Amino acid sequence: MTERTLIVIKHDGVARGLMGEIIKRFERVGLKLVAMEFLKSTRDMGDSHYPHTKKWLQKVGERTLKEYLDKDLDPVKELGTMDPIKIGQLVKGWLIDYLSAGPVLAMVWEGPNAVHVCRKLVGDTIPANAVVGSIRGDYGIDSAELANSQQRPIYNIIHASGELAEAKEEIALWFKNREVFDYNVYSGDFSGVSGKLK
Ligand code: ADP
Ligand code: MG
Repeated sequence: MTERTLIVIKHDGVARGLMGEIIKRFERVGLKLVAMEFLKSTRDMGDSHYPHTKKWLQKVGERTLKEYLDKDLDPVKELGTMDPIKIGQLVKGWLIDYLSAGPVLAMVWEGPNAVHVCRKLVGDTIPANAVVGSIRGDYGIDSAELANSQQRPIYNIIHASGELAEAKEEIALWFKNREVFDYNVYSGDFSGVSGKLK
């Protein structure tokens, strides 16, 4: 049940001075920090971080295409194409720009169901829709509409792996030559608690 997940405070989170606030939220639920690095992501890192598959480009392209059409924006006029794969590639370029805009704080957090628990703390992809109490809901305001009108990705402060397989790949990428620690702290482990709750 113990999992590890990758969290990256993107450059907007760093620039806004939110690192301490965000770390506090992961610590206080009982997750354990096992690796951390303040670094500038290269374009190559960004390129590897976001998937290469046609399926992913198609999904991302279709999502953006739908948003443009829903808002009566002409994708050909705005983006130069209607092809979801080409739009996916364009969006991937924006995402790489965003990730390499300045230093980011990459971390590995460990604990029971860490992937799910971190996604819950992070909140919905679109800050304008993320619930109050989540990181994106409490500190973000950006929307797909605003991002699309400015031809950029949604600025949402933080990245969290979406699922366990993704977490494994992302940790291998971001912490390839870096130390990930193993040590004991309270981490959702209730085995040492005895007696009945009254
Ligand atoms: P998440 O970060 O919640 O896992 P995705 O993996 O689906 O979200 O998307 C990766 C990143 O792409 C998001 O964090 C966000 O910065 C950007 N993004 C997601 N959806 C949109 C969208 N509709 N328009 C612009 N950018 C988006
Ligand atoms: Mg994701």
